[in-house]
Amino acid sequence: MSFNHFERKHAEGFYCQEDIEVIYSLQKGECYFCSRVLGSPGEKGTFHIDHLNPIAKGGDNWPNNLCLACEQCNKSKHSHSSTVLWSKLRKEKGAEWVKAKVQENKKNLPDKRKLTNQRKKERRDSLSLLKQEIEVAISRNIKRLNYAYPKEKYIEVEQIGCFLDITFNNSTASIPAPTQKTLGDWHLKEFDTLAVSLLNLESVAGYIKNA
Ligand SMILES: [Zn+2]
Repeated sequence: MSFNHFERKHAEGFYCQEDIEVIYSLQKGECYFCSRVLGSPGEKGTFHIDHLNPIAKGGDNWPNNLCLACEQCNKSKHSHSSTVLWSKLRKEKGAEWVKAKVQENKKNLPDKRKLTNQRKKERRDSLSLLKQEIEVAISRNIKRLNYAYPKEKYIEVEQIGCFLDITFNNSTASIPAPTQKTLGDWHLKEFDTLAVSLLNLESVAGYIKNA
């Protein structure tokens, strides 16, 4: 299971330390914007992880939306925008230099997309495992609570930001998504609690009845 700590609230997607190391080597250890040499990923505070499309503007946390920037560029991008930052660099280093840098950055996109696809696959796998667990818990509790089996059992687990929307037939419950750390603490009890609340929702809405 690979729900990750680097998932920010309300933003879609996640990345892990390995992705940062790959991006670091794609950028040859240099700032995405000004080419200043960055400290290595092991050291603290030697570069900033920057969202190319800012979270505030609907950007996500997938690796292909990330770049590594030096402190100055990160600050200047935050207080203005990347457009302002590039035009500042154009004045400092010349239009040709910026053009070459932008081209260089573009070359790294396929590799960053590959990282994103890996993470998306990990998430799909995690969600499908979680879905199986929830399915089993629902069946277990249908029996335990003596509910009549619904004719159809539709279960969907969807992640939205750091929340999971779990749909069982006509009812949806939203819970904080477990992280890699907290998922280890999920036991039968957590799955049962979830199953019971979904069954209660279905029962209150009149979709299932006691047998
Ligand atoms: Zn920089």
